[in-house]
Amino acid sequence: MSSFVRKPFDPITVSSTDKRRVAYFYDSDVGNYSYGTGHPMKPHRIRMAHSLIMNYGLYKKMEIYRAKPATKQEMCQFHSDEYIDFLSRVTPDNLDLFQKEQVKFNAGEDCPIFDGLYEFCGISGGGSMEGAARLNRGKCDIAINYAGGLHHAKKSEASGFCYLNDIVLGIIELLRYHPRVLYIDIDVHHGDGVEEAFYTTDRVMTCSFHKYGEFFPGTGELRDIGVGKGKHHAVNVPLRDGIDDATYRSIFEPLIKRIMDWYQPSAVVLQCGGDSLSGDKLGCFNLSMRGHANCVNYVKSFNIPMMVVGGGGYTMRNVARTWTYETGLLNNVLLDSELPYNDYYEYYGPDYKLDVRPSNMHNANSPEYLDKILTQIYANLENTKHAPSVQMNYVPPDMEDFGDVEEDTALAKDTQGGSQYARDNMVMGDNEFYDDDAQAEGINSKNIEDNSKETENRTSRVSIMQPLFEDSNKEKKENDVTSTNVPFSTLKNGEGEHKK
Ligand SMILES: [Zn+2]
Repeated sequence: MSSFVRKPFDPITVSSTDKRRVAYFYDSDVGNYSYGTGHPMKPHRIRMAHSLIMNYGLYKKMEIYRAKPATKQEMCQFHSDEYIDFLSRVTPDNLDLFQKEQVKFNAGEDCPIFDGLYEFCGISGGGSMEGAARLNRGKCDIAINYAGGLHHAKKSEASGFCYLNDIVLGIIELLRYHPRVLYIDIDVHHGDGVEEAFYTTDRVMTCSFHKYGEFFPGTGELRDIGVGKGKHHAVNVPLRDGIDDATYRSIFEPLIKRIMDWYQPSAVVLQCGGDSLSGDKLGCFNLSMRGHANCVNYVKSFNIPMMVVGGGGYTMRNVARTWTYETGLLNNVLLDSELPYNDYYEYYGPDYKLDVRPSNMHNANSPEYLDKILTQIYANLENTKHAPSVQMNYVPPDMEDFGDVEEDTALAKDTQGGSQYARDNMVMGDNEFYDDDAQAEGINSKNIEDNSKETENRTSRVSIMQPLFEDSNKEKKENDVTSTNVPFSTLKNGEGEHKK
């Protein structure tokens, strides 16, 4: 029997009775960081998305937080001390002193050392860790961090515009409460850093949909399924150029359903890289905004605690549009197609619409090819029956479980340069997003008040996790002979196809 059945692309719908609580993490500094002129990765797109999200009025639906930046100690729950030490000390001005380390940690062309790099990493990681901490405590049902999603970063290596793997850090936090976490990646590139981190454990299942073949990072073959205890807990969907909405949906939905049934995760992390959209500067897929957003809506429909992070995306206006539309869906709102006035309105001309349209590019993913992929993945899953009753590892209790926790722990003071109260007041300092209507409803003060209760989450986030995967990198590296080391920024749309 054929596994792949091409279904039509139905209109996206939301439920008005769905009352899930959404926590959205944003740091107003994030848009100020720059990888350098000419570099395709632009943190500014996160600020553009935020401005659209606010001007659509979504602050009325969700709670908005500025997370405490990830500390060195937190970063080192995954990354090596010497790598994080390097990131914290290197600057464009003292680069000469770190020539050896630059080579060792792969800093350079794709991953330049820019001003404020370490703070940028702290913001990205802090949002994902705090999002996970809120999900753990049942304080929200969905956490969003578009400054996160940097899936290529390795334990001791920068890669593909990523330095700190906020996703791995967020998942480690989730594992303190959740026996099984599912990671889904819809970026056009393989989610190699996350896969590698959890390649030998069955407590995290990774599933990446990506372009494969003469494309960065060169990994993510169909036959890579995990090793040891992690065997069958990595799923790779290698795709070809030009995949469209209907085709993507026809492979995404049945596969995710199958994995949900098989693995029964208690939490899910969705990486929403926007470089799988049509017209992306580095990507080669042909998804419209709705085709991309359908994945978000579908994962949400399983109704389990969900973390949504950003990722790639190099045509800024389309990334901002799509993440805004998806934020609407996560709040059960179908946003109007007419863009509201916002700080970056001129970017959205000439149509000023909330839409990303597909092009007429060729779809190189034949039904036969996709059938082969699905059949193989299903066979792999049926091969072993997953035991959902997997024992939880020992989880260290939260600091607060030992009794009252002081508002400002020494660590918090040390890393913040100010009191918790002062920081809480920094949250949502930008009143310009609040119209009179919202002020009358007291939304602004509600958010600040609620943030002042965040201390418990912030301290709980700090407690130390047992090392889960100390040696997972080793095993993967030894087995990994597939990497072709194609530089990220130099290989654009289809260019690599001519190399053969
Ligand atoms: Zn990407």
